Amino acid sequence: MVKASTRSTPPRLKPFLQRIVELGAVDAKVVKASSVVTADWVRMKCRYGCDGYGSSLCCPPHSPTPGETRKTLEDYTTAILARFGPGGRVTRSMVTLEREAFLQGCQRAFAFGAGPCILCKSCPGDVCKHPEKARPSMEACGSTCSPPCGPTGFPSRSCWRRALSRTTTGCCS
Ligand code: SF4
Repeated sequence: MVKASTRSTPPRLKPFLQRIVELGAVDAKVVKASSVVTADWVRMKCRYGCDGYGSSLCCPPHSPTPGETRKTLEDYTTAILARFGPGGRVTRSMVTLEREAFLQGCQRAFAFGAGPCILCKSCPGDVCKHPEKARPSMEACGSTCSPPCGPTGFPSRSCWRRALSRTTTGCCS
């Protein structure tokens, strides 16, 4: 069933939850940005065992390190976690949400995608050809699905993606 978890969500953020469901998510939820966990071991799993390692500018070693991501997360108070089913166009949907949130005043809105970037047949590896569409996955930046999902009550084995937005002016969190 398609739904957005809007109970106890700040009213100004409810439209974003509804929107990401319209864009293809199965469910979405607002959580504290501080609940998004990054860890160095996630990077190691990318480096040893993932076919996508080094395949594009959105994957390690090009993507932000866990430490950089951790530091960046300090600039945010709120994150939106969105769950997509099989075949969901995660990155494209989240980038669309990022853009719309930005245009509505969420200056810091930033989307994380899912999996390696597949926008180009072959990634040039130096300058991105589609910077407006390409976003790293959360795991490429050192964050894993399970830790943030546990404390928020989401199924730990679900594949959750997040977009960040700010809370400073009240236009969005
Ligand atoms: S959009 Fe193209 S150039 Fe940019 S990271 Fe993806 S594959 Fe590489």
